[in-house]
Amino acid sequence: MDSMAEPNTPLPLAVSRVEQIFPKLTSAQIARVAKHGRTRTVRSGELLIEQGDSAVPFFVVISGELEGVRPTGTTETVLVIVRAGQFTGEINILSGRRSMARIRARQDGEVIQVAREGFLTLVQTDAELSEILLRAFILRRAELLVQGLGDATLAGSSHSADTLRIKEFFARNSHPYTYVDLERDADIQSLFDHFHVSVAETPVVICRGEIVLRNPTNREIANCLGFNEAVKGTRVRDLVIVGAGPAGLASAVYGASEGLDVLVVETYSPGGQAGSSSRIENYLGFPTGISGHELAGRAFTQAQKFGAQMLLSTGARLACDHKPCELEVEDGTRIPARAVVIATGAKYSKLPIENMSRFEGAGIYYGATFVEAQLCSGEEVIVVGGGNSAGQAAVFLAESSKHVYMLVRGSGLTDTMSKYLIRRIEQTPNISLLIHTEVASLEGTGHLEGVTWRNNKSGKTEERNIAHVFVMTGANPNTGWLNSCVVLDDKGFIKTGPDLSPEELTGAHWPLTRRPYLLETSRPGIFAAGDVRGGNVKRVASAVGEGSIAISFVHQLLRE
Ligand SMILES: Cc1cc2nc3c(=O)[nH]c(=O)nc-3n(C[C@H](O)[C@H](O)[C@H](O)COP(=O)(O)OP(=O)(O)OC[C@H]3O[C@@H](n4cnc5c(N)ncnc54)[C@H](O)[C@@H]3O)c2cc1C
Repeated sequence: MDSMAEPNTPLPLAVSRVEQIFPKLTSAQIARVAKHGRTRTVRSGELLIEQGDSAVPFFVVISGELEGVRPTGTTETVLVIVRAGQFTGEINILSGRRSMARIRARQDGEVIQVAREGFLTLVQTDAELSEILLRAFILRRAELLVQGLGDATLAGSSHSADTLRIKEFFARNSHPYTYVDLERDADIQSLFDHFHVSVAETPVVICRGEIVLRNPTNREIANCLGFNEAVKGTRVRDLVIVGAGPAGLASAVYGASEGLDVLVVETYSPGGQAGSSSRIENYLGFPTGISGHELAGRAFTQAQKFGAQMLLSTGARLACDHKPCELEVEDGTRIPARAVVIATGAKYSKLPIENMSRFEGAGIYYGATFVEAQLCSGEEVIVVGGGNSAGQAAVFLAESSKHVYMLVRGSGLTDTMSKYLIRRIEQTPNISLLIHTEVASLEGTGHLEGVTWRNNKSGKTEERNIAHVFVMTGANPNTGWLNSCVVLDDKGFIKTGPDLSPEELTGAHWPLTRRPYLLETSRPGIFAAGDVRGGNVKRVASAVGEGSIAISFVHQLLRE
């Protein structure tokens, strides 16, 4: 397309991608857009959107040209030129977050201007345009991420843990930024001089070329970039979802698409545990697998398309004796809600080993499915843990791997594992049970290559060239913040529906004549879905399934 032939366009895109990223709408499609906005003239040089503006409108060019530029101090970089039939915008238009670019008219001309509300109605009601516009927005964001073109600059060192933390926070939230490295970028001193910062104060984040944050917390970065500005926290919502893992995102998509006013509250980023999985191969419909981050990004866009909003904050307390109940978030704001879905998931217990997270998905696994079994076929593996999940994993892995070493801290399995599994383990020649034994250290560059274990009675250590460790030491639910608001099981997972005994309901002062719905907790209108729920199967698909099903019960509740 000719707009990309412009010499001052810094996006080196393949032609096929250009056609999807900057498509040209047909006159029939433009006429449908026009019904949601107004046609107006623009003058050459007129500023239509400033970088940092919130809830920005959407423009389709009828005649003339617009340009999208990224201001850097007193200079500008032209990102794109938008010609007749093309349109402005990227994913932030859905969330209402601040614009990362400045949009200006290059020539006198005519445009269709659609306010954000009108734009949301358009993508919710016109399937063909929704596909074209959202695909373009997703690809534009992907391109900004790859090219490091956003409204934030991070200056830091690749050897600094805080620099890594900030990079991860940007990446998990799909927020584009420019990275300047202390050790590699020669002109870093001029950046430091300009913003009056020193090496000792790094990592430094500069928002929109204006605000300088010295080693900021993730929350300070989110505030500076205005992640939460479009969300009005205090109106009564039909549904508040706590947690944006697969369960929470599924509830958000179904809830918002079925007309509910939905707010999702998430501590860190959309995606939850699944977001940290490099490749999910067993989720329906993705035969070649999909990264958890990509799955989450798509689901988040889908939820926003239907009008769901996300507040980056932590659910700190549930005031559930009120009607409507209120979710209190970390800054003390109370958000009233007719219904709540708790989807705060669980954290797998990790081994107390400093470099363990480096090998997650690259030799350290928390589940033993066919996929992992294939990865270590014919090799030696370690299973850590003495519970039933560890026993099942050991027996399963023994079928395809060379040898399974089961490491348990205690003196045996009898107190922690079912008898049938203990017998199977005893009868399987390629499983060795090592009691009083713990992993002491992990070695490897990239993938795990070696493991040292230690007998905690004798202190003796042994080093092995083993590249696969299955950590099956249980998962801890994120329910500490609930403060006895709902009934939990003995491991702290939330009890729902038929799992709640009459005594438990009486103890919880269940006020209704009906019993709790399938995913309803011991408080009417408060539901639980996904890994946080007692008895849940810890998989992406079950989290998505439960998150979706919860919405049908929310509708029933709202009709009561
Ligand atoms: C490394 C790894 C790989 C995996 N691979 C697979 C796989 O290939 N296939 C598969 O089916 N399953 C896989 N799983 C399991 C799967 O990811 C989980 O079962 C699934 O993510 C559970 O979804 P969830 O929404 O219930 O909870 P989670 O994914 O745990 O999400 C919970 C969310 O709630 C947020 N949160 C917690 N507390 C609060 C609070 N107080 N306020 C606000 N937000 C809060 C968290 O930040 C998180 O984003 C994997 C898990 C891991 C860790």
